[in-house]
Amino acid sequence: MIRELTCISCPLGCQISVCIDNGNVASVTGNSCIRGERYARQEILDPRRTVTSTVKTEKSMSHRLPVKTVPEVPKDMIAAVMSEIHKIRVAPPVHINDVIARNIAGTGSDLVATDNLLR
Ligand code: SF4
Repeated sequence: MIRELTCISCPLGCQISVCIDNGNVASVTGNSCIRGERYARQEILDPRRTVTSTVKTEKSMSHRLPVKTVPEVPKDMIAAVMSEIHKIRVAPPVHINDVIARNIAGTGSDLVATDNLLR
């Protein structure tokens, strides 16, 4: 089976073909550098994404605080992460890069603030 991917590791956006045999990556072609091969293998074997969202605030002039997962979470855990994010409430002060939730949804990734919430 062949999967066609667009490498997102740099703006060149190489078109990569991945030959998959029995769930394993048999070959990667079309990439211009080793980063493309790494990206393709990761995307086929263990796809991950950064989840960006917002959490509700309380005792604050802002209604919501933007957050993201660090590092990326497994793609099939995104719904579980979003479910946890919906339950979270934060109050000031929060600083950019503060950890809002450790090991969110058991992914091993943390949820961190991407903005300040100072009042
Ligand atoms: S394969 Fe290399 S050159 Fe091509 S898009 Fe990916 S990182 Fe960029």
